[in-house]
Amino acid sequence: MSSVFSFDERLLAAAAEAEKAARPQFEEIDRISQHGTAKVLRAFQSQQISAACFAGSNGYGYDDIGRDKLDKVWAEVFHTEDALVRHHFVSGTHALSTALFGVLRTGDKMVSVTGGPYDTLEEVIGIRGSGNGSLKEFGISYGQLDLTAEGRPDFDAIPEAVRGAKVVYLQRSRGYSLRPALTVADIRRIAELTRSTNPDAIIMVDNCYGEFVEYDEPTDAGADLIIGSLIKNPGGGIAETGGYIAGKHELVELCACRLTCAGMGREVGCSLNQCRPMYLGLFMAPEVVANARKTGAFAAALFRSLGFECLPVPDATAGDIITVLALRSPEAMEAFCAGIQAGSPVDSYVTPEAWDMPGYESKVIMAAGTFTGGASIELSADGPMREPYAVYLQGGITYGSGKLGILTAAQKLLERGLIQL
Ligand SMILES: *Cc1c(COP(=O)(O)O)cnc(C)c1O
Repeated sequence: MSSVFSFDERLLAAAAEAEKAARPQFEEIDRISQHGTAKVLRAFQSQQISAACFAGSNGYGYDDIGRDKLDKVWAEVFHTEDALVRHHFVSGTHALSTALFGVLRTGDKMVSVTGGPYDTLEEVIGIRGSGNGSLKEFGISYGQLDLTAEGRPDFDAIPEAVRGAKVVYLQRSRGYSLRPALTVADIRRIAELTRSTNPDAIIMVDNCYGEFVEYDEPTDAGADLIIGSLIKNPGGGIAETGGYIAGKHELVELCACRLTCAGMGREVGCSLNQCRPMYLGLFMAPEVVANARKTGAFAAALFRSLGFECLPVPDATAGDIITVLALRSPEAMEAFCAGIQAGSPVDSYVTPEAWDMPGYESKVIMAAGTFTGGASIELSADGPMREPYAVYLQGGITYGSGKLGILTAAQKLLERGLIQL
């Protein structure tokens, strides 16, 4: 490595120590990855996946065997009755919006029990923006149970908060916040508390960034529907676009009618040439998630040794692939993101700058040099330019490249006098 890249010798020594410190985490990550791969491999075998599944279709896409079998594979992996896996979902937000509009009707209420939802969902719900096309405009109301001061679900308040709700909504990942991600055990507890006063509620989980991080998934713990993006974990860095909805059959059917239209549902929607990347991506996903998590664990160990606060802490059960590095100054954020960008395989020659991103109060800086536009299962870092000047790090589809990206970032901080060794 050092014959190709010229990192500071002291940095390389610190990196070797960090890798040693992270080794117990790596071992657990590998065990989870092995389990995830077993689930995926078994599902491919039992659904008798063949080369014909990769051929794709055009036009209306009737009888698209690759598309239909992928839904079955997905359902088997996530232990659900059904799944809808489509490149037609333009993003994770679109898949989440489809699920909400799919199951909610005028007069219904959704209640988020993990505080405010991910930013882009605010306009879908109608709590920010013009309200055009939002759930609110269709007469669907929204309630929210805030997190505690520690950023944890307010478990005791859940049974009352969910009374009368048609959808009880959970976000598994920390998103752009310092709260810890939900663990599957947390989700099980929330589901039980919900059922104690509202046995018929649809428990819906924003599963973005969570797939294959633990042995079990939310659908093993009482969730009725899970939703996510294919340019994150379950696309394995291979899927080119898309999203999924998995869960109870009748609910997935409702979502299919929303994605296309009533009467047609899942019977239409050609797969073009997207079947093979979606299959291969799912096949790769458990190990790619492991690589991303190792990259994050290495980064946290290195930056912790350099005196920065990093989350999650090593002995916590991780619920998503995000690592937070509190870098404490705008200069350090800029240097870190410049390094991540410079260490990327694509667009390594450009320098990220903080900008006024629509919908954010402070400037946001983002670094990503990816094969798939915006794919955050690939190494990427971003964050709002405000206290505590934290960067949110995700991805790394191979550990070797992820580690080099982190080292390039650390070297930038060193060169700019922002860390001492
Ligand atoms: C990425 C993400 C989404 C969806 O975002 P898109 O950019 O629309 O794919 C929703 N919730 C969480 C927690 C996410 O991480």
